[in-house]
Amino acid sequence: MKQPTTVREYDVVIVGAGPAGMTAALYTGRAMLRTAVLERGFPGGELLNTEYLDDVPGFPKILGHELAEKFATHAKQFGAEFFETTGVASVTKMPDGYFHTETENGEIFRSPATIVTSGGTPIKLGIPGELEYAGKGVSYCAICDAAFFKQQVVAVVGGGDAACEEADFLTRYASKVYLIHRRNEFRASKILQQHVFDNPKIEVIWDTVAEKVEGNPQTGMTGLRLHNLITQKRWLLDATGLFVFIGFRPNTGVIAGHFEHDVMGYVLTDSAMMSSIPGLFVAGDLRAQLTRQVTTASGDATTAAIAADKYITRFKEMERTNSTDASTRSALESSHVSAGGYT
Ligand SMILES: Cc1cc2nc3c(=O)[nH]c(=O)nc-3n(C[C@H](O)[C@H](O)[C@H](O)COP(=O)(O)OP(=O)(O)OC[C@H]3O[C@@H](n4cnc5c(N)ncnc54)[C@H](O)[C@@H]3O)c2cc1C
Repeated sequence: MKQPTTVREYDVVIVGAGPAGMTAALYTGRAMLRTAVLERGFPGGELLNTEYLDDVPGFPKILGHELAEKFATHAKQFGAEFFETTGVASVTKMPDGYFHTETENGEIFRSPATIVTSGGTPIKLGIPGELEYAGKGVSYCAICDAAFFKQQVVAVVGGGDAACEEADFLTRYASKVYLIHRRNEFRASKILQQHVFDNPKIEVIWDTVAEKVEGNPQTGMTGLRLHNLITQKRWLLDATGLFVFIGFRPNTGVIAGHFEHDVMGYVLTDSAMMSSIPGLFVAGDLRAQLTRQVTTASGDATTAAIAADKYITRFKEMERTNSTDASTRSALESSHVSAGGYT
């Protein structure tokens, strides 16, 4: 016989416990909202894949997992309940305005507002050594890690805007940057290509793919095995860094129903971080924006949590007064047009 589905009631449910989710939890907990944080793995998000960070204000140099622990301890201190190894299958807005966040185990978390912070996933090359040397030479974020490669030789793989822009950025630190592309022309915009061609520190290697990251488990990456697809030549490039920019996938799969997004699939929000689904807030790497960093994820999440608090207050007021009139409902929903709607 099918077991009855467990339904748990919260004021707000947060999907994901990366920097955005944990910051949101800190603020909603502090606002005395009953907060559930559902995380498919363990708290930290991309921080758990980052060796050191040196660009988080107040922490000149900190280990990724150490920062993750600090974020989690801080959020729990304000009462947020963390559910680890609890993957979310879907977040659905029900006809009564509540969200049902269903876990992969079939449990339902019911709340008037939801903050989705499920981040994104950099697309990997899938070559031997890539995962082994991630954080020990292999990176997916130049802004984050370029400073660790001062006066070193690094390789960049990719051919789009990100690859060209980040290769150019890396030359501020690296002594030499090899830009490796599997075709004989870039997909990047002409202006970014021109920056690459004009930069004497960048050498483009065309028609070539990376085959293996070589290294020493103690000291890190030492080289990259390459294969030219035209000449069939194979060789070892001496490089201590590999930056992979072949795409990034936002983890939007949990959001049921239509929501506005940009061409890359990132969720569009208003300035209060509300998506086109009223009551569904989004923060961090999942959101369409210029850059993706710990500080921006936390900033988004601060706004999302405060806005969600105001949304929940209005929602409950509407429920208490049993108000169904169009102007009250529209006041609740129009708040996604401007943050001013919450004041
Ligand atoms: C290798 C690397 C190094 C970086 N270095 C730096 C740096 O030095 N400085 C810096 O500022 N930024 C750095 N960044 C960027 C920074 O880590 C991200 O911008 C930041 O982690 C984004 O936070 P987030 O919470 O939005 O997403 P994430 O950190 O991606 O967290 C998302 C969380 O959601 C969870 N999740 C996803 N789907 C589900 C689901 N269905 N159910 C439940 N949970 C789910 C994931 O498990 C994850 O824990 C780096 C990124 C990478 C990849």
